[in-house]
Amino acid sequence: SARASRVLSALDLPTDGSLIPGMYDGQWGGSGAVQKSICPATGEVIGQVQTANVEETQRAIQATKGASILLRRMPGPQRGEVMRQIREALGAKTAALGDLVSLEMGKIRSEGKGEVQEFVDICDYATGLSRSMAGRVLPSERPEHVIYEIPNPLGVVGILSAFNFPVAVYGWNLAIAMITGNSTIWKPSPTTPLCAIAVTRLIQPVLERNGLPGAVAALVCGDVAVGKEIVGSSDVDMVSFTGSEKIGKEVGKVVQDRFGKALLELGGNNAVIVDKDADLQMALQAVIFAAVGTAGQRCTSTRRLYLHRSISAQFISMLLKYYDSASSQTTLKAGDPLDDASLIGPLHTSGAVKLYEDALAGIQKRGGKVLTKRSGKMDVGMGGNFVWPTIVRPTNDDPCWTTETFAPILSVAEFDTLEEAIHLNNAVPQGLSASLFTTNIQSMGKWLGPEGADCGIVNINVGTSGAEIGAGFGGNKSTGWGRESGGDAWKQYVRWSAATVNYSSKMPLAQGVSFGV
Ligand code: NAD
Repeated sequence: SARASRVLSALDLPTDGSLIPGMYDGQWGGSGAVQKSICPATGEVIGQVQTANVEETQRAIQATKGASILLRRMPGPQRGEVMRQIREALGAKTAALGDLVSLEMGKIRSEGKGEVQEFVDICDYATGLSRSMAGRVLPSERPEHVIYEIPNPLGVVGILSAFNFPVAVYGWNLAIAMITGNSTIWKPSPTTPLCAIAVTRLIQPVLERNGLPGAVAALVCGDVAVGKEIVGSSDVDMVSFTGSEKIGKEVGKVVQDRFGKALLELGGNNAVIVDKDADLQMALQAVIFAAVGTAGQRCTSTRRLYLHRSISAQFISMLLKYYDSASSQTTLKAGDPLDDASLIGPLHTSGAVKLYEDALAGIQKRGGKVLTKRSGKMDVGMGGNFVWPTIVRPTNDDPCWTTETFAPILSVAEFDTLEEAIHLNNAVPQGLSASLFTTNIQSMGKWLGPEGADCGIVNINVGTSGAEIGAGFGGNKSTGWGRESGGDAWKQYVRWSAATVNYSSKMPLAQGVSFGV
């Protein structure tokens, strides 16, 4: 379609359906199966990618390993300069790349662009980090001794990413891995190969300009076999995996089995708690963005809503006014993600629509209620995987409370005390993001403290989704305990050595141990 052609041609991607090489390790290639990229809003095929096969993946791993030796010799601030140039290359194409995210993944335009901006931001952050990744100097108990803690590069970081952030998740990993001196090999989601190819094509000339081999940032589009090849390879020092709990559990076991390092960013099941003293208007705006935005396809999307009994009826009616407006196409307009007026885009695949429908059917079969006027598939006049964002009141013991359904379904329940709400928040396997809406300082303290929310992201008067890059991003419990992006996340991308240096002329032992030689 003309719509797809406009987006593809802005990034020099073919518009005639010709095969695009989906593997890069200094050269573009690939002779594995062909992956079709399907636009979630229309169902049309927008590109065909020739993926890497298993042997080619192994070759790319070896090339990446070779490239890591060059990269680790490069002084950190010089790597920072390369990162700054990558940032410039991305910055020049933010809008075009953002549109490709909207076209291929299905999120709305401002979110597509926002995702690329996140990559730009992490490049800036990483450039700064290149001059400030500090080890430590510690006092020794022995005279004229000193202890250092020294970070050195790991070698190769394998990046396996999910469909829902086809650019930013790679960006977080590439930037931090590269700045800490590691080369990377990226296997993107099989449903978003074009985003991966477009990003890699922007990075390629920067590497070339700086005399670095392309395998510093290798790409292997492919299926599960390609993912398994990376995960199982002892030449991949760390596997940074972003995806579902189910696959993450498998990946974690395989990496553990070879004593590799795994960084897991898995599913979320995030709650908002609106207490009796909350500013309801603020809570409303936050819940709608986090539950309806991205059609519920963020790892941090709000899936559970716990309302203080005294404000529950009022807050639900405020929410329903918005949710039901999706039908009149006024406030919460659903439609083409590339149309600036749209706030609701499609689900990513038809399979996701089925998961959404099955989840709603199950909740109702088990005695739960749908509160919104409409639910199910939505027709916006362009085909695609559009569904109605839905609010449900499941039974208290419904299994939906403890599982992540990657769709815009918001489950509501009431609570009477903050302690009870915190208990509900924590009583799920996942531990990614949680938000409390309150104006009470005592509640804030409790929420953030040892008796509070057990998640990796714990907010107050801010929704569960839409984190900035400055802090470490990730979740606890079955979300995998990983941290990416800012904060201390870089410390996972290095091998740490404790180094004791003796600059005296004696050989004393620690703890006063004597050993008479
Ligand atoms: P997924 O688990 O289906 O796939 C993730 C990646 O793993 C893909 O690249 C896939 O091809 C690959 N893969 C599949 N099987 C594999 C195997 N056996 N070995 C190696 N690789 C394999 O996830 P998805 O549907 O693409 O993404 C949605 C999920 O990702 C949600 O659960 C969401 O919460 C999660 N997610 C988490 C975060 C976070 O930071 N915590 C961020 C984004 C998405």
